[in-house]
Amino acid sequence: MISRITAFLGPPLCWGAMEPTNPDNISETANHCGLYIHVPFCETKCGYCDFYSVPTKDRQTAPLVSALERELEVRLTDPPYPVQTVFCGGGTPTILPTEELRTLLSAIGRYVTLSDLTEFTVEANPATVDDDKATALRDGGVTRVSMGAQSFFPEELATLERLHTPDDIAPSVATLRRAGIEQINIDLIFGIPGQTVQTWRESLNRAIELEPDHIACYGLTYEPDTRLTAMRDHGRMTPCEESLEVDLYGTTIEQLTAAGYDQYETSNFAKPGFESRHNLIYWRNKPYVAVGPSAAGCYHDHRYKNIADVNAYVRQIEAGGSAEASTEVITREMLMHEMLMMQLRLVEGLSVTDFTKRTGANPLELFTGVIKRLGHRDLVTASDTHIALTPQGRLLSDAIITEFALACGHQDVPLRVIEQG
Ligand code: SF4
Repeated sequence: MISRITAFLGPPLCWGAMEPTNPDNISETANHCGLYIHVPFCETKCGYCDFYSVPTKDRQTAPLVSALERELEVRLTDPPYPVQTVFCGGGTPTILPTEELRTLLSAIGRYVTLSDLTEFTVEANPATVDDDKATALRDGGVTRVSMGAQSFFPEELATLERLHTPDDIAPSVATLRRAGIEQINIDLIFGIPGQTVQTWRESLNRAIELEPDHIACYGLTYEPDTRLTAMRDHGRMTPCEESLEVDLYGTTIEQLTAAGYDQYETSNFAKPGFESRHNLIYWRNKPYVAVGPSAAGCYHDHRYKNIADVNAYVRQIEAGGSAEASTEVITREMLMHEMLMMQLRLVEGLSVTDFTKRTGANPLELFTGVIKRLGHRDLVTASDTHIALTPQGRLLSDAIITEFALACGHQDVPLRVIEQG
């Protein structure tokens, strides 16, 4: 129901006949960009995960770190825009040995001006951060850690095939704080088979007690080619009822709002001023550079995606080549679609000025019929500055976004999304 979109990779080059956007359009609204680094190693593969990640068992991680250093140098010696935010995700970056983590962080520090950054996030899993690693993160300029807690119930973590226990979460947060990293995001998942409103309330409470400044709550999705989906398809596991999932989502909003977290995106809640600046770059369709296997970057009206194979990635980078598996030019039509996809997830909604400036079409005129129809059903609101989904509309966000897309002529546009980080 509620998808876990953090970045959108549009359809492949099937729209080659369409006109590309005016190169100045994206640039006009971008005076900075984000940097994403993908570290594709995890202890094991969780049953629901469709990120590109491989188990570290019997695997050397140092060659990947060297290749990342090289790609950072190539992509950032002359960056398309000054880098304002960094997000190092995966995978589990903190699974790297401490010295390799330090090497990677110091490489990032060589190619971006750390003092210019407004946010530098690294993803971590509970029980993968000790004092040495936390100190390495702080020394490397990291200001924020995103902790994949997911649940505070052992049975739910077991269903997700997570390796940590609920008791690992608070000590890991304490370790980071001891090292001086104050900004913490906690990731949680709802809609886990067997979860109830009571267990979800308890997980939210336990997360709130840790006093993070940001909490992200994603609905569990059944991605193709994952063990969880196979179990469902073979009848070995019963998914959460959709009506329960709606209740869990409502509980999320109610409980986090009462605790002082503002919802600013479909799945994301923050104390005022602590919204994820890096993810806002994705959601506002701003440019970002990406390095690492499977990472997708987007700037200067081009998008690229690196090969999702760590060995091939290292080989290609070591040989002095590019690791890009695909590139495409972003057409005006693609840009329209992506702005709808991403900005309608934000509580603030789609910016009328931004959409008009970058696509040449005023969305209040383009979508008059849809706004009127969905407005009557209390699913959408429109002002002079923004078109936004109502809380009720956010429950139907995929269907509503499709309706907007159809209104600007995207009948055959598949909604293909990727996640990053
Ligand atoms: S969900 Fe996170 S920890 Fe689990 S395999 Fe995927 S990237 Fe690794």
